[in-house]
Amino acid sequence: MKKLHTFSPWERSQAVLLKEILKGEGIDCLLKNDQLLAGMGEIPFTECYPELWLIDDEVYPRARLFLDHWLKNEPAGDGAWVCPNCKEELEEQFGACWSCGSERPSV
Ligand SMILES: [Zn+2]
Repeated sequence: MKKLHTFSPWERSQAVLLKEILKGEGIDCLLKNDQLLAGMGEIPFTECYPELWLIDDEVYPRARLFLDHWLKNEPAGDGAWVCPNCKEELEEQFGACWSCGSERPSV
């Protein structure tokens, strides 16, 4: 097991997406601290940073390259977004709607 990347709490949806992408590439990985986010607000932010861990150490260089490439191509963020469910306007740093709990669309 080897840690690939630590995400910010509000990058959780990115972490989940990246895990799926890596899985599609044949790279097995595990998202740690993901569950803790369910209780966000009750626990300190520092304890719920999602961490992406590789099951197989040997794929690290490949996964690292993939991650760097992926992060570089991530849009820098275009500010506020609107919840597709309840139409609440949310600031860029929120990964989910604080009003209804819907996840931010990954578009
Ligand atoms: Zn909402």
